[in-house]
Amino acid sequence: HREYLRKPEWLKIRLDTNQDYRGIKTLMREERLHTVCEEAKCPNIHECWATRRTATFMILGDICTRGCRFCAVKTGRPTELDLREPERVADSVKKMKLRHVVVTAVARDDLNDGGAGVFAETVRAIRRKVPYCTIEVLPSDMKGDDESILTLMDAKPDIFDHNIETVRRLTKSVRAIATYDRSLAVLRRVKELSPNTPTKSSIMVGLGETKEEILQAMDDLLENHVDIMVIGQYLQPTRKHLDVVRYYQPAEFEELKKIAMEKGFRHCEAGPLARSSYHADEQVDPESRL
Ligand code: SF4
Ligand code: SF4
Repeated sequence: HREYLRKPEWLKIRLDTNQDYRGIKTLMREERLHTVCEEAKCPNIHECWATRRTATFMILGDICTRGCRFCAVKTGRPTELDLREPERVADSVKKMKLRHVVVTAVARDDLNDGGAGVFAETVRAIRRKVPYCTIEVLPSDMKGDDESILTLMDAKPDIFDHNIETVRRLTKSVRAIATYDRSLAVLRRVKELSPNTPTKSSIMVGLGETKEEILQAMDDLLENHVDIMVIGQYLQPTRKHLDVVRYYQPAEFEELKKIAMEKGFRHCEAGPLARSSYHADEQVDPESRL
């Protein structure tokens, strides 16, 4: 028998299911598309979809070849590639009137290019159909494969995001297959290829890390020229996932944000509900688009 930590008040959010939101849900079903917003039961869904006009699409199917211990996505053998998916995503971005879209994907370690080809096509299709919408990509580490990184960057996303997810020491017990150093190398390589594209990385806190380890993660990201850092509270998706070791107080997030900004990040989003895609629309520098 285990004692579970009680969720603090600031994490209890009532979902406001207004008409707009329900319409978008129906659209997702019809188009057979997946959003992280829904699958991860993200508490920000109403604010993002209806008010901020932003959403996070998950492409390349909904079955991941990895099984990270914090993540609610299904693990297994993925279904085959859906080459029409890029167009369907772009059509939905248009119908949802999104101003900013995040495109992420399950890890497709079964594919030679890790899915980079379809990923790049999705960016291009959105750009073609909804030119005013800014596009952020959040891929897996694509096994650190340089060809795959080149393929994706050739589509010129507005922000490149890849998450280290946690501090170095906890990486092995939190993430599957990915390593801390490989993720840093991917972020560094993207900056090398496209110095004007902002790069971003997130960590979850509450998994048992120390403050020193968080500060070290900040330094490691900065050393690899990462512009934006996101720090959010880890929330356990089901009881099979890692336990929450600690809920951070809102004031602690404030302090971490202050430290991150002092250390030199261009932007830091830190808070109990901060997610890599949360308030992402504010982080795009219009000058940076090539
Ligand atoms: Fe979706 Fe991200 Fe907003 Fe959550 S924070 S609703 S995942 S866009
Ligand atoms: Fe979830 Fe990504 Fe890990 Fe797959 S690689 S289990 S989608 S966090």
